[in-house]
Amino acid sequence: MTTALANPLLPVYPPVPVIFLDGDGLWLVDDAGRRYLDFAAGIAVVGLGHRHPAPLAAAHAQLDRLWHVSNLFGTEPAGMLAERLSERFGGAQAFFCNSGTEAIEAALKYARKATGKPGVVALEGSFHGRTLGALSATGQTAKRVAFEPLLPHVRFAQPNDVESLEAAVGDDTGLILLEPIQGEGGVRPLSPDFLQAARAADALLCLDEIQTGVGRTGTFFAFEQLGVRPDLVTLAKGLANGLPIGCLLVADDAAGAFVPGDHGSTFGGNPVSCAAACAVVDAVDDALLANVREQGTRLRAGLAELPGVAEPRGAGLLLGADTERPAAEHVATALERGLVVLSAGEHVLRLAPPLVVGRDEVDHALTILEEVTA
Ligand code: PLP
Repeated sequence: MTTALANPLLPVYPPVPVIFLDGDGLWLVDDAGRRYLDFAAGIAVVGLGHRHPAPLAAAHAQLDRLWHVSNLFGTEPAGMLAERLSERFGGAQAFFCNSGTEAIEAALKYARKATGKPGVVALEGSFHGRTLGALSATGQTAKRVAFEPLLPHVRFAQPNDVESLEAAVGDDTGLILLEPIQGEGGVRPLSPDFLQAARAADALLCLDEIQTGVGRTGTFFAFEQLGVRPDLVTLAKGLANGLPIGCLLVADDAAGAFVPGDHGSTFGGNPVSCAAACAVVDAVDDALLANVREQGTRLRAGLAELPGVAEPRGAGLLLGADTERPAAEHVATALERGLVVLSAGEHVLRLAPPLVVGRDEVDHALTILEEVTA
């Protein structure tokens, strides 16, 4: 006979403080009917806000037509999404999967096949996901230690230290994997110089834009602001505004390594997720990107004025700042006051509101944060 456990979920997350029932734009409603302003967007996912009409209508329409046929056949939404992303990138092929970590796995395999070299160089403090390949390239001891041994041939360099990067890259390096702004690692931007040094190395360059992509930093891809063009890009989080999706983009000039049978995913390219993602990509237009930059500047200026908070970092609407007190305390107090925010490490407060955030909501969030950090 089995005994029922108190928690039916494996306890890999901390206990939940709130249960949300509804979302609308920038607002969430909990099971007691209380409203919260959402400056977390499901960890930089719900870029267009909750239940945005465009991806909602696209997903509904697709639900009414076709849910799944597998990648043994074609569907219109996956092809349309690949075309849109290729256009944004300036010539690329897409592989679709279901999450960020799967997109990283695809990149690791692609680089190995394309270069024949097993070595990967990633950065201290990076975060690339929880599956064993992506975890092997994640430079955070606490997340890795219980699962070692991980993949061999991975070396870590110090962010923004060109000498350390050059020392880490060797003859066996097939892939350099970098986040333009380390998200989970504390909202730490890479400098254009460092990225250019990575580009100059004799290896494929993959930019992990899972957190920074799809408009979050004020351009569709963060790399557009950094003067580099990668060979590979990974996307996930914001791509379908909350439906599960991941993507590896391979630049046309790095194409050709994968052939049928090399990789795959039963659910990858799911028509409902891809239909929603097409609507998201269309919505991330010049006006929305201008809003990201404008509200990002306003939010950043307000954050810089907060007591107990150091100079903010980041770009667009992915912002972080070191806090004197543990960031978890600020996150909890903000939640009590009706504002959802994130941390990124023990002493970093992270803000990633929907890209559609307006001036009034930025000011409202700052008023609450002023009380929270005092
Ligand atoms: N890469 C980056 C930069 C991320 O921020 C994340 C998630 O936070 C991942 C990879 C992993 O994505 P997922 O949780 O969808 O597997």
